[in-house]
Amino acid sequence: MFGGMALLNVADVSRIAGEAARQESSDLRVTGVTFSAGGGDYVEVLIVVDRCHAAPCQITLGVFRSVSEDELRSEIATQVRRHVRQDKN
Ligand SMILES: [Zn+2]
Repeated sequence: MFGGMALLNVADVSRIAGEAARQESSDLRVTGVTFSAGGGDYVEVLIVVDRCHAAPCQITLGVFRSVSEDELRSEIATQVRRHVRQDKN
C-alpha cells in the first residue's frame, strides 16, 4: 500500500460507523457512507438521529479513512456527541 497507512474500504467504514453509532445511542442509525469521487480518503457518513431536536434529523459526518479502526470509531463518536450537545442548547 504505497508505504503509507492502508485505507479502510467501504465495508469497513460502514461497519465501524454502525458500531460507533450503536455504542453512543440506540437513537442513531447509519443510513449511508459516501466516498469522494476519485478515490480520496475523505468519506461522509450519514446518520439519522431519532428523537433529536427536529424530526427527521440527519447529520453528515466528514471523516478520513486513512486512519485506524479505533481512530475512526472515536472520531465518529466525537462528532456525534458534538451534534447531540448542540441540539440540547
Ligand atoms: Zn439533530
